[in-house]
Amino acid sequence: TQFSSFSTASQAAVPNNFTDYDSMRQQYQLHMPEYFNFASDVLDKWIQTKRSEVALWWVNGQGGEVKWSFPELGELSRKVANILTDACGLGAGDRILLILPRIPEWWLVNVACFRTGTVLIHCSTQLTAKDILYRLQVSKAKCIITDDSLAQAVDSVTSACPSVKVKLIVSDKRRNGWLNLQDLFRDTSPDHECVKSKSSDMMAIFFTSGTTGAPKMTQHTHGSFGVGLIVNGRYWLDLTTSDVMWNTSDTGWGKSVWSSLFATWVQGSCVFVHHLPRFQSQTVLETLSRYPVTTFCSAPTVYRMLVQHNLSSYRFKSLQHCVSAGEPINPEVMEKWKEQTGLDIYEGYGQTETVLICGNFKSMKIKPGSMGKPSPAYDVQIIDENCKPVSLGTEGNIAIRVEPVRPLNFFSGYLGDPERTALSMRGGFYLTGDRGLEDEDGYIWFVGRSDDVILSSGYRIGPFEVESALIEHPAVAESAVVSSPDPIRGEVVKAFVILTPGYTSHSPEELITELQEHVKKVTAPYKYPRKIEFVQQLPKTISGKIQRIKLRNKEWGRASH
Ligand code: ATP
Ligand code: MG
Repeated sequence: TQFSSFSTASQAAVPNNFTDYDSMRQQYQLHMPEYFNFASDVLDKWIQTKRSEVALWWVNGQGGEVKWSFPELGELSRKVANILTDACGLGAGDRILLILPRIPEWWLVNVACFRTGTVLIHCSTQLTAKDILYRLQVSKAKCIITDDSLAQAVDSVTSACPSVKVKLIVSDKRRNGWLNLQDLFRDTSPDHECVKSKSSDMMAIFFTSGTTGAPKMTQHTHGSFGVGLIVNGRYWLDLTTSDVMWNTSDTGWGKSVWSSLFATWVQGSCVFVHHLPRFQSQTVLETLSRYPVTTFCSAPTVYRMLVQHNLSSYRFKSLQHCVSAGEPINPEVMEKWKEQTGLDIYEGYGQTETVLICGNFKSMKIKPGSMGKPSPAYDVQIIDENCKPVSLGTEGNIAIRVEPVRPLNFFSGYLGDPERTALSMRGGFYLTGDRGLEDEDGYIWFVGRSDDVILSSGYRIGPFEVESALIEHPAVAESAVVSSPDPIRGEVVKAFVILTPGYTSHSPEELITELQEHVKKVTAPYKYPRKIEFVQQLPKTISGKIQRIKLRNKEWGRASH
């Protein structure tokens, strides 16, 4: 049966009141309506029922604060929708490259794009002119929206981008060749009729993080995000209409659109934003103490920094639910967080292509080091090279069954790259490119990205296990483990280690031996790093993920992309 759009939307606000995983999975029922638009089917419904509650709460740490109710969000975003159609001359299907920091206009442009059926491409403000050029050219965007900090970089490349017809700046100053959002805003009507988008119409193109190579353009539809993300908001983030959700992701990462927009608003919760121009762990801790944030989502690298602080001097009065995603989170970090805050970290595993694949859900026992169990939206299987499921406890490819029924939160392919799209599908499965195993209780354990797994003297070693062993030692703040060439063993384990402040003046030789002995003690001895190098920082993506490929290429004398 097909739900009408409205019943899909009202289904969204249902709280997660399951007491165990199996009943949650059994009762999960979402169907894709033929037509769906997040603005008209979800946000505009909240305008009717949640007139005064805060939809967006933004602070900048310097006294600046914005609080918009759902009706205000509705009115402002309708104005921006009119600007996109009238002043910018954009229509449904036209692509917009959006590069803004965490400012309220970012949310307005997002919603305005849903209203107009224009296709969003989110990019990070950390991009250089060369990165912007690449993204404009491959995406064939017709419009670019940014602020003062990047306008000049954009101007330096747009002559090489014939697709770009209009530039819109968010600034209190005018700029030659650019339309100005603030200016246009004053004389624009708040009346706008939302497009009637099909669930299968393209809504956004997300660049993947680029952890393993050049970022890929992942296509998502109005339905795959709008309807598909109900599962994240309800089951994993456990949100209700009274929650305040803070997710720290950079606006250029698909994750920020899931967690700071769809998954939160689908449940009628408040999106909380701290502008955070530069990441400082102290600011995060102060914000969690000062504002009534109930749900916090961040990357493991952030939690690793936060637990370096003495958390007992802070009180997180409202915080109830913490989640982490993007990379595996080390059990040691979860333990330290729990010791000091009393809260568990609910890890989630997902991709730009799929949104949430596995998660620890509120009703489940957490097994630290495991990614939890499959999302109710997915049939996750561990399979071998012939696409046959492997036995429990055996490492294989993490795959999602996509035939005969295509899951509703699944991407529609890599834009402009049908070969890569085809390569990711085999035998009725989508291959995530990650390796893992399933235990006897149905929990999935991450071993590593296929390319990151180290083969040494016939053993297969996942970097995460070695990194998690290392971080249990007080000298280690963070580490990255990769393969390194060895004349006898072929490959050996090498660890790049960032030391905690108390250890930086210790003798490196002694520390190396100590860390090696430590790893041999806490995990299978063959996994210990035969080589260790101390470094000040690790190469990371804007989403905060360690780029092991860069370290590995250096070790093997290869060029990186
Ligand atoms: P690219 O595909 O461009 O190399 P990326 O894969 O990092 O970059 P994303 O889509 O942001 O781009 O990330 C998805 C990947 O992140 C997953 O395939 C997995 O390798 C990793 N990941 C996400 N969450 C977890 C987790 N909880 N545990 C382990 N790995 C995770
Ligand atoms: Mg990927």
